[in-house]
Amino acid sequence: MIVIENPIPNLEEKINSTSNDDIISFIRNIFNVPQGQVPLHAPLFIGNEKKYLEECIDSTFVSSVGKFVNLFEERIADFTGAKRAVVCVNGTNALYLSLILAGLTHNDEALTQPLSFIATANAINYCGATPVFLDVDRDTMGMSPEALEKFLSEETIVRNGECYNKKTGKRIRVCVPMHTFGHPCRIEKIASICEEYRIVLIEDAAESIGSYYKGQHTGTFGRIGIISFNGNKTITTGGGGVLLFNDEDLAGRAKYLSTQAKVPHQWDFFHDEIGYNYRMPNVNAAIGVAQMENLEFYLKRKRILASKYREFFKNKSIQFFNEPENCSSNYWLNAIIFDSKRERDLFLSVTNGQGIMTRPLWTLTNKLPMYENCQRDALVNSSWLEERVVAIPSGVIL
Ligand SMILES: *Cc1c(COP(=O)(O)O)cnc(C)c1O
Repeated sequence: MIVIENPIPNLEEKINSTSNDDIISFIRNIFNVPQGQVPLHAPLFIGNEKKYLEECIDSTFVSSVGKFVNLFEERIADFTGAKRAVVCVNGTNALYLSLILAGLTHNDEALTQPLSFIATANAINYCGATPVFLDVDRDTMGMSPEALEKFLSEETIVRNGECYNKKTGKRIRVCVPMHTFGHPCRIEKIASICEEYRIVLIEDAAESIGSYYKGQHTGTFGRIGIISFNGNKTITTGGGGVLLFNDEDLAGRAKYLSTQAKVPHQWDFFHDEIGYNYRMPNVNAAIGVAQMENLEFYLKRKRILASKYREFFKNKSIQFFNEPENCSSNYWLNAIIFDSKRERDLFLSVTNGQGIMTRPLWTLTNKLPMYENCQRDALVNSSWLEERVVAIPSGVIL
């Protein structure tokens, strides 16, 4: 039998693998998991979740009518400072519904970032519209106001109060920036550009509950903002989402469309347009109300975790991703930046091989087969980040 010896690793690799081991033991230590799996972001149920669920079941109101649904909406509105919140079954359909409400329709275009979870582009597609992909800022991982301004000034024209793409002739109805990993993008600048070009701003704040730009909660800068309560987000309802409004009438319309567009009546079933069954069930909202009671505590703990990571990566070749200027981030997912894709890939393979769940950024949406023909700018920062950023375990530590 021929034994092939392992090649001697070069010096560079040796340094990297030792520091990867240091990172792994640091992570095991802070999460207090000496062996086995360290998840990326496990949900935490330490409050009234079971109590409210039991109450909900005992009441028999388990579907979309019930006290927890209304209570959850009030709590979210209070917390975010939005005038009204309308909950629905998940973040993806919250986004879809908000685009319908914004008037995005067949043959329109929507400006967004390719560095996002697939749901952002898919929600645009469900409307029969096409995304146009614009670059992000390196220090926020969210849409770059400069990229937005450049595209709009060079490629579009405003006619009769609406913005049109000169190349395709299509109307650009909405702009959908995303607050990546909970870090707010430069949303104030984006909002003022959108206003100038008569484009409706819809914020994908799916990841950023508890994140603020200049003290204002993300998701409240545009016409509508959405948050996700999927199991891996900062707080969860199992599945769930919410739309945030500053416009009461629009919120009313969201609630109406998400309940099959039923005209309110004590017994008659009359629907005067095509609606959807998107209301959040009371069982999910029961969990949500309990989660909201601990949200401030979770955020505090998450910021402590982030500061521990920041301290650990100080003066190291791997850079810790800090909250942008003028912002307070929920640090939904802590992120680190490698010097090269090679080092990043090595880290992903070593950590996941040892049960530490780490993840790269999403493949840029414009590279996926469904969206590869969409218009885009050079996406320099998006591509740079895509090759280097890794999300590391970020669940709430006690
Ligand atoms: C999680 C997420 C969504 C979708 O939320 P779901 O509740 O999983 O449907 C949308 N956009 C972004 C950026 C997300 O991270």
